[in-house]
Amino acid sequence: MIISDRIRKLAAEAERLAAGSFASIDEVAAANTEKVLAAFHNNRVSEAMFAGTTGYGYGDMGREALDRIWAEIFGAEAALVRLSFANGTHAIASALYAAAKPGQTLLSATGAPYDTLLGVIGITGSHSGSLREYGVNYRQVDLLPDGTPDYDAIAEAAAPDNIGAVYIQRSRGYSGRKALPVETIGEIIKTVRLANPRAYVVVDNCYGEFVQLSEPTDFGADLIAGSLIKNPGGGLAPAGGYVAGRSGLVEAAANRLTAPGLGGEVGATLGHSRQLFQGLFMAPHTVAQAMKTAVFCAALMELLGYDAAPGYAEPRYDIIQAIDFKDPALLKRFCAGIQGGAPVDSFASPEPWDMPGYNCQVIMAAGTFIQGASIELSCDAPMLPPYRAYLQGALTYESGKLGIMIAADKL
Ligand SMILES: *Cc1c(COP(=O)(O)O)cnc(C)c1O
Repeated sequence: MIISDRIRKLAAEAERLAAGSFASIDEVAAANTEKVLAAFHNNRVSEAMFAGTTGYGYGDMGREALDRIWAEIFGAEAALVRLSFANGTHAIASALYAAAKPGQTLLSATGAPYDTLLGVIGITGSHSGSLREYGVNYRQVDLLPDGTPDYDAIAEAAAPDNIGAVYIQRSRGYSGRKALPVETIGEIIKTVRLANPRAYVVVDNCYGEFVQLSEPTDFGADLIAGSLIKNPGGGLAPAGGYVAGRSGLVEAAANRLTAPGLGGEVGATLGHSRQLFQGLFMAPHTVAQAMKTAVFCAALMELLGYDAAPGYAEPRYDIIQAIDFKDPALLKRFCAGIQGGAPVDSFASPEPWDMPGYNCQVIMAAGTFIQGASIELSCDAPMLPPYRAYLQGALTYESGKLGIMIAADKL
């Protein structure tokens, strides 16, 4: 491959800087692999579970076992892992509809939610079926300027009786804020419980799964939700999402996904169960590959003089790496390089477009096996100052590193 000598030399230097973090990433992957494998053993995973069902999908052994395994791994009473969740937004929306009832208020404890949830909640747009249309009000408490939760304001805002649910976003999403460690999420949950023991806590867990040794449900979250084409699908799940948490809330989310009374008892798996099992089995390792790629990226971009957040030596609580380009042309070139280094569609050139669910143009580089899968090396950016790229994923560290070297060369 054509990569300049300068970038090859800088990459070797970046890898030396990055290597300091690799041992702790491997330790987390080892512990999470043990947790996943134990859940496979405890639930007696067998080949028969991969056969799948058609039609109504009644009595699908694989689907039912995967729900139990997921619940065990996430320290939850129940889980709903489904290909028929269109994406993470759909799963999170189902969780919010389960937790907040008409007449109640949904409170975000971590500022503005991820872009695609604005329309779901009804903060922007006037989509039919939004929470707002169903009579669920919304309030938010912003994070403090240093990115930490505003506990006093959360306690005050959560106290009123009409607060039905509190939303917490674990990952940074497309924003300048930091990802929250699960310990901090635990502190927010404690604060909410003291102020209002009846309010449910729902965590948007996207990009956070298997990054640490525990999950928000281990710290008392009532419901978590996320995407299967991110961390927990391990790069093998072809589509889908999940919710996990209290069994009554998981059932309510299932009723929202299918229909009241049907819940999670239906849903043919059509022969895809093996990919979900195998993806979950791979997920702790795949997440580690993505984490290493992100650390390497931060180190190389810092050597090239760009601002990277988190810095290569900083702790990480999601798989996202932000890089500020401060210039739309540089940002586009970087994204073109990431696309050019991809295994699929490497010849394509990404262009900004009006992506559904986002309120500005977005450029996305994703030469992925699964369309838009951001556990594979990918890079997204809203076309707005500071022209910040959000890079994530890589199925293997080796391929992630190459993609970043190619992108760096384009600069
Ligand atoms: C990816 C993501 C979502 C959901 O996005 P989908 O593209 O619908 O899967 C929600 N919240 C956060 C923080 C995310 O990163």
